[in-house]
Amino acid sequence: MVQSRMTITTMLLLTVALAISSPRAEAKSNMQKQAFGKTPDGQPVDLYTLTNKNGMEATITNYGGTVVSLKVPDHQGKFDDVVLGYDKVTDYAEGKSYFGAIIGRYGNRIAHGKFSIGSSTYTLAKNNGENTLHGGNIGFNRRVWSAKEVSGPAGPALELTYLSKDMEEGFPGNLSIKVVYTLTEQNSLKIDYSATTDKETVVNLTNHSYFNLAGQGNGDILQHHLLLHATKFTPVDAGLIPTGELRPVKGTPFDFSTPMAIGARIDQDEEQIKLGMGYDHNFVLTRGIKNGTLALAAVVHEPKTGRVLEVWTTEPGVQFYTGNFLDGTGTGKAGKPYGRRTAFCLETQHFPDSPNHPSFPSTLLKPGAQYHTTTVYKFSAEK
Ligand code: BGC
Repeated sequence: MVQSRMTITTMLLLTVALAISSPRAEAKSNMQKQAFGKTPDGQPVDLYTLTNKNGMEATITNYGGTVVSLKVPDHQGKFDDVVLGYDKVTDYAEGKSYFGAIIGRYGNRIAHGKFSIGSSTYTLAKNNGENTLHGGNIGFNRRVWSAKEVSGPAGPALELTYLSKDMEEGFPGNLSIKVVYTLTEQNSLKIDYSATTDKETVVNLTNHSYFNLAGQGNGDILQHHLLLHATKFTPVDAGLIPTGELRPVKGTPFDFSTPMAIGARIDQDEEQIKLGMGYDHNFVLTRGIKNGTLALAAVVHEPKTGRVLEVWTTEPGVQFYTGNFLDGTGTGKAGKPYGRRTAFCLETQHFPDSPNHPSFPSTLLKPGAQYHTTTVYKFSAEK
């Protein structure tokens, strides 16, 4: 009796000791769900925490399909949250920066809030000066999505769906959208966007995460190094609407074809830099424009932490935005203020204002056709 009690005690102690000493790397991937409060109009929303077997963690809310946090290791294995955001859903509802959200029905700008399909002209809300930005007054970033766990061998995964009704924000057609976030075991956040419509419409979906690879709230991103696989960009007018030109980056501050500090030329006395108040431009991806296969678009390296972000996409363009409009007002996660240029965005996309530029790759979606794009944000660290 005494002996068996001792054996049980020994076994218990051994189990505890094993559990404590188990390295994080042997953890199992999983997904947890918790309440994330209520939207200003009283709808309850949730926060989903996806963890992979390396301990990388992504939290995503079904409010706006927003990526709330992304915890990734640095070169010493120290985890930090590398995206800007808020602690409360009401802050997301009131915020003007689109932190982490799914953007739609049309990412970036449509000139004068107007476009035509065939003989029909559609009018949208002008929510950005004379133009429409990121889907209008209530874009997909302010909608409550339906959520379902779809985890599989690739890793924990969350499926979000939303039905954007015919003429919602002025866009024609009932658009049925599905976005699947997968946190892969290779430390990637993979985003698959699909949509179908019952009337001809325009679609341009993206995710608006603001990254700071030194950790959110830890200073500006001017020393991050960027490599962009783009030999051209789309210059803009004063309203940040593309002029239609595809301008070579060679010899301009827009040339990131070899890795370059983001801040090296950001305040140059150059027309396009001044119009964007820094970088706020669509880059024409070298391989993406040819077809819809996944290609490497950008690589960002943060020298102190060694963190590296690779952006892979099937899209023809990427909006490189350096948080020029962040002004330190309002409080971000854990009470951190977010000043100017404390994050960068790499929003994979079709080009801004494509519906008014027949020469740009088309954003038209017809009934019976399937919209499908994929973007992967892959994290690693090097010394
Ligand atoms: C736009 C910026 C805008 C930012 C936040 C970016 O996609 O290009 O001009 O300020 O989103 O709305």
